[in-house]
Amino acid sequence: MADDLGRGIAGRSHLIGPPEVDFVRTACPYCGVGCGVLAKRTGPRSANIAGDPDHPANHGRLCSKGTHLGETIGLEGRLLHPTIGNCQASWDDALDLVAERFSATIAEHGPDSVAFYVSGQLLTEDYYAANKLMKGFIGSANIDTNSRLCMASAVAAHNRAFGEDLVPACYDDLDEADLVVLVGSNTAWCHPVVWQRIEAARERRGTRLVVLDPRRTETAEGADLFLKLRAGTDIALFKGLEAYLLARGDISPDAVAQRVTVPDDYWDGLASYGVEQAAATCDLPAEDVRAFYELFAATPRTVTMFSQGVNQSTHGTDKANAIINLHLITDRIGKPGAAPFSITGQPNAMGGREVGGLSSALAAHMSFTPEDIDRVGRFWGTSNMAQRPGLKAVDLFKAVGEGRIKALWVMATNPAVSMPDAGKVRQALAECPFVVVSEIIADTDTARLAHVRLPALGWGEKDGTVTNSERRVSRQRPFLAPPGEARADWSIIAQVAGRMGFGEQFAWDSPAAVFREHCALTAFENEGTRRLDLGAWSSISDNEFETLPPFQWGGERLAFSRTQARLITVDQPPLESGMMLNTGRYRDQWHTMTRTALSPRLSQHRREPLVEVHPNDACASHLGDGDLARVSTEHGDSIFRVAITEAQRPGEIFVPIHWTDRVSSGGRAGLLVSDAVDPVSGQPGLKLTATQIEKVVPEWRAFLLMHEAPPEDPGCLWWTKVKVAGGWLFELAGNGDEGRLKRLLPEGELIEASDATRGVRRMVITNGGRLAGALFVARHGDLPPRDWLIAQLADEQAAPLFAYLAARAPGRSVSVEPAICVCFNIGRSAICKAIGEAGAASVAAIGSVTRAGTNCGSCRPELARILAEREPALVT
Ligand code: SF4
Repeated sequence: MADDLGRGIAGRSHLIGPPEVDFVRTACPYCGVGCGVLAKRTGPRSANIAGDPDHPANHGRLCSKGTHLGETIGLEGRLLHPTIGNCQASWDDALDLVAERFSATIAEHGPDSVAFYVSGQLLTEDYYAANKLMKGFIGSANIDTNSRLCMASAVAAHNRAFGEDLVPACYDDLDEADLVVLVGSNTAWCHPVVWQRIEAARERRGTRLVVLDPRRTETAEGADLFLKLRAGTDIALFKGLEAYLLARGDISPDAVAQRVTVPDDYWDGLASYGVEQAAATCDLPAEDVRAFYELFAATPRTVTMFSQGVNQSTHGTDKANAIINLHLITDRIGKPGAAPFSITGQPNAMGGREVGGLSSALAAHMSFTPEDIDRVGRFWGTSNMAQRPGLKAVDLFKAVGEGRIKALWVMATNPAVSMPDAGKVRQALAECPFVVVSEIIADTDTARLAHVRLPALGWGEKDGTVTNSERRVSRQRPFLAPPGEARADWSIIAQVAGRMGFGEQFAWDSPAAVFREHCALTAFENEGTRRLDLGAWSSISDNEFETLPPFQWGGERLAFSRTQARLITVDQPPLESGMMLNTGRYRDQWHTMTRTALSPRLSQHRREPLVEVHPNDACASHLGDGDLARVSTEHGDSIFRVAITEAQRPGEIFVPIHWTDRVSSGGRAGLLVSDAVDPVSGQPGLKLTATQIEKVVPEWRAFLLMHEAPPEDPGCLWWTKVKVAGGWLFELAGNGDEGRLKRLLPEGELIEASDATRGVRRMVITNGGRLAGALFVARHGDLPPRDWLIAQLADEQAAPLFAYLAARAPGRSVSVEPAICVCFNIGRSAICKAIGEAGAASVAAIGSVTRAGTNCGSCRPELARILAEREPALVT
């Protein structure tokens, strides 16, 4: 196979020519909204990014992450060559070794002794190749994906309800709904462009919004009704709603049985779920519960959108089925503005589901029945098909830890950080006899544990397809030259397959060839038995693949006959008592930050991981805002800075999922969360772990600013680092002599001052008068604000030394502040000024005065919150 196969842009010389070439239409690599992106290269590793106005998912909109994609395509930290051990190796040597070790392990210990752990970041063609190799030729189904952590419960719920993993809705339903119910979804932060569509519908047609969440997120701000329910009580709320509809006569079991298959015991015991009972279980005011039920009952055009708050639970499948049940019994499905809608976290979680990237599925929405195994085996031309489902993610890593899996290939994901009980996963990886990692980043927490690292293509270099949450297939197209020796994942897999003796069945010469084969398999002996049928695309030419416009399989929305749809009996499980830990995302970060942390602008929104605590719990634990606290569970502990907020419920604390050992000493949520899983889907319950919190009182706190981050860890009790314009900002805390921190400062002229009044020691390094580094340490008092000093790191102009030591501009009493609108660098004081002095009385008016919120719109919920705080009477 030619060396440059799968190097994306190879053979497209017009795309690596002068930077003045026209834009390339591609798709955003972050969340499951799947926005279309226009990328115009402006240099070898730079591009202008805009939303694609013709893409049906976003109609030209992008959120902050998509808008700042251009800042993340540099080569900083990239893995550019294969490595064996820590030494650079040739592709031939690396691929030979991978194939030899996998073949030898299978020969000695059987096919179930090896595994692949893949990712919703892979393109469909990559996923297809990995699944075909493992399930068709190695003969095991031990391939699972990080999507198991994201939406496996939604998949299981769809399979139970519809007999196939089918998302019935489309984004247009959000435009046409009269009521949108968001369940366990911080849509404003996690799916911002969908959020903008909901906001637009509210403005245009008065769509009502109900948010069900244990946290008052920015999504909940401004909802028509926000139910801050006790974590884990969703089923009680939905069963109560069914009971309410039944009692009012809005639904009749006989009528439902005409449209849907109903289990015999379905209506039994519903009487125990009245309004009062639901309110008591969910810890909600009964009048709020009743208001929700009345609104739902009165609004046929309802979309119930759910996300990780539903899925990441030990009874997530039942929760998802409770939602689907409601839509089936009220006949709100497959109609404009009416559907249950699972929205995925990752850009290609859906594509992975289509090809069989989950160990519990076979391929092309087929399962491990004898008929399907035979069918897929004949299509692939193999007699070595896997005969049963493989290990799901949590069990897969347990098997690695127990030595049952002896060779593991991890592709495009970072399980050492993202898996629950990640300390054990890291230990398992460290002890695994052979670990291969295909990656774009050289130094991830997982790549550090690999015996072989294979450089993969990243966004802007890859070539293939992805499927978004509404079943829309879009092209990811390359516009950057492949860096170093990086290759496409599908091609790397095919080359290993060839070396394992399966070359004939993996002899693709392009991603278009893989796509055609995937489409042909979906249609193979289908005859209407599976809705996933891409047969119409199975013989498209390379040119047609090149220009393939976004398309939605199965039609715009899916309706179901009585034999196709089934109610599932579910019940509210018992609840645990005591303090519980919840986890989730920040607005401007993505997963383990290997990409988004490269953007100083995206890092402004939250510079470090915070543990959010209700004031009652803070008081009980003697915590103040900004203190450090140790969060402990039976799996591990980690230190976070405390943010006290009424957004939390008492007894529930929240930490973000993004921070890793590369950027912090603690802050790893994966270290803390339980690996208990949903019994049906195998998805871990990442959002509810018994926990404790206690105050940590370090002897000193400090911050450190510099152009280049030091190679070694600061080696103190607690630290985090974040990229800022012109360098790095460290936040630190520790005990004992802080003098050793001086060794971290860069070379240059050192000026030092002690501020006895404030208890702060200040050290500044200059080069030619310009700021090169700063270290401020406080044993008693407060550290000064960082933002003006951060700005000096990137400033060409020198400032007076006394200003550096004071950490503020000469003549100014306050420092600059972090941006709320990262697109236009607008901080809180400018926004408050617009409200207070210019009389801005709406988010739009703030935008007119300051431009904040007028580009990607991701900060609009935060603008609304500031507006509400400043001028409560203005917000309706
Ligand atoms: Fe990307 Fe944002 Fe669109 Fe998600 S909403 S696909 S992160 S631009």
